[in-house]
Amino acid sequence: MTMTAFKNIFQPLTIRGCTIKNRILSTGHDTTLPTEAAVNEPLIAYQEARARGGVGLIVVQVAGVHETARYTNHILMATDDSAIDGYRRLAERVHHYGTKIFGQLFHPGREILESHGGLLAVAYAPSAVPNERFHVMPRPMSRAMIAEIVAGYGDAARRMRKAGLDGAEIVASHGYLPSQFLNPRVNQRTDNYGGDLDDRLRFLREVIADIRAKTDDRFVVGLRISGGEMDHEGLTGDEALEAIVRLESSLDYVSAVGGTSATSGGAVHIVPPMTIANGYMASFTAQVKKRVKIPVFLAGRINQPQIADKLIGNGEADVCGMTRALICDPEMPRKAQEGRSEDIRACIGCNQACIGHFHKGQPISCIQHPVTGRELELGKLAPAGKRKKVMIAGGGPAGMKAAVIAAQRGHDVTLFEGSARLGGQALLAQLLPHRAEFGGLVTNLRRELELAQVTIKRNTRVDRKLVEQFKPDAVVVATGALPFRPDFTNDGDLQIVDAWDVLTEKAKIGTSVVVVDWRCDWIGIGIAVRLAKAGCRVRMAVNGTLPGEMIPLYVRDQSNAELQDLGVEVTSYARLFGCDSSSVYLQNTVSGKPIVMEGVDTLVLCTGHSPMTELTEALADYEGEVQVVGDCMAPRTAEEAIYEGFKAGAAI
Ligand code: SF4
Repeated sequence: MTMTAFKNIFQPLTIRGCTIKNRILSTGHDTTLPTEAAVNEPLIAYQEARARGGVGLIVVQVAGVHETARYTNHILMATDDSAIDGYRRLAERVHHYGTKIFGQLFHPGREILESHGGLLAVAYAPSAVPNERFHVMPRPMSRAMIAEIVAGYGDAARRMRKAGLDGAEIVASHGYLPSQFLNPRVNQRTDNYGGDLDDRLRFLREVIADIRAKTDDRFVVGLRISGGEMDHEGLTGDEALEAIVRLESSLDYVSAVGGTSATSGGAVHIVPPMTIANGYMASFTAQVKKRVKIPVFLAGRINQPQIADKLIGNGEADVCGMTRALICDPEMPRKAQEGRSEDIRACIGCNQACIGHFHKGQPISCIQHPVTGRELELGKLAPAGKRKKVMIAGGGPAGMKAAVIAAQRGHDVTLFEGSARLGGQALLAQLLPHRAEFGGLVTNLRRELELAQVTIKRNTRVDRKLVEQFKPDAVVVATGALPFRPDFTNDGDLQIVDAWDVLTEKAKIGTSVVVVDWRCDWIGIGIAVRLAKAGCRVRMAVNGTLPGEMIPLYVRDQSNAELQDLGVEVTSYARLFGCDSSSVYLQNTVSGKPIVMEGVDTLVLCTGHSPMTELTEALADYEGEVQVVGDCMAPRTAEEAIYEGFKAGAAI
């Protein structure tokens, strides 16, 4: 019996005889877990964790259907029968939990990111129309090659079917090959694969027919498409809608997203960051639902079951893709169904460890849930052998996570925080423009502390004396960091403040500001945006190639566009050298030449942090178990803090 408050998301849905137990979907997403282009144990363990948590349908990440489809080094390939074994093991493990599983049939066309051995690949596309984002000029496909690729889709689908997958999805979204054929600005062919919409649909029709011919009538075949590629030359929502209508009779469902891989602006929508509204593509799927009868799947910042339930209830979608919600909390469906929605660790759309890791070529994870992508290593917490008295010094993300994990394992945990509020630097991060949702990380951790029954002592700074009085069996030092002030000559009385002073409104900022950004992360960008919006003239001196160089690409690109729109003057390769009463002196980090910024009334330092090492040093000769985690070990980000907190909590 379910106790769910949700009317819609737990209704089953049957597509071509395949019954999906609920309307929650994990959409196809690269995990960077496969190593030999095949499904491996880390990927199976990753998907199994989501199936165990109750998701209705998993669409596994893209699999190349032809040798020319290798768009990254971590792509799955379904080009020969050796793919079957891995898919079979994956399907069995996911089916065990009653979850259905589809594959994704993929060819990127001109959207090639990298190739083996560092050599650029030859990209193939309908026509020689360049890709803006990856700077690729593709080679037009011959008719023979088109036929070979079409057959590749069918052959790959046959292998997926043989492995026991319930269906497959053709990836026509995000400007990939089928979309390149559909788009008249990218497909300039003069044969019968180009021209009017019916001719531009020929490729997809042949692909669908080949898949149907090589699979059986119980195999579900769907289409993923962007309901607007959000790009000046991208497929429009109207064009996508018309294509769906014309293909409806040959498809079992359609799955809509937004954006394209072809441009920086379009790519932001591949994994929309927290700046983008929840469920923002619903206006497109609502239109689709008016025109077709097949089920319509929707994705795009649907991070809570309440949102999914409403979208389905409103008739805007039949199934909701909640991929990052599941990356962040694989148990989300079960918690929602059992009436425990407040226990869900909500995704905050930061993009840091999910798509952010993909862009670094690293396995997927989540900043809030280090187990993601590390299921084999961290998936099972060993219960505490002996219940220890654990003292956690510091209530930032590292300390909070350490406390949660240690308490979950059965230890008696007390968390001490020097200030009145838990959250550490995450409380400041949420004050940056467009980063309010970052505070969700603290809300989630607070709930985890409550569930794990951790004792919390606020306004209590831990020192050696307190440790000796408290007599813990183990201490976790998570005391964080403070702003770092670099050495520079100061020959005047210019107002000099740091990012924290701006965010907490401790300083009265003038009208002409230089932001010195050494970290090249969210902080410098956020401070510049905030001050530019407040009417200041803002000059940004970036010690790197561009603002946000260190942060996830889509967030970086969107932020740089905003800096430009706001008229922030950015100088790259700039190292702070000194200042006087009204000028800031910098040095080009490559040429060493001076850069002078005159007429300045405030210098804002976004120059990183220094670890707070006092307690670590005071406990240097302490005999009990001591672990040091997060920024007080070395200042980095919330991701490392939470990961190290987790590891410490698991090790006590
Ligand atoms: Fe969501 Fe951020 Fe976790 Fe990605 S890393 S799943 S965006 S919370």
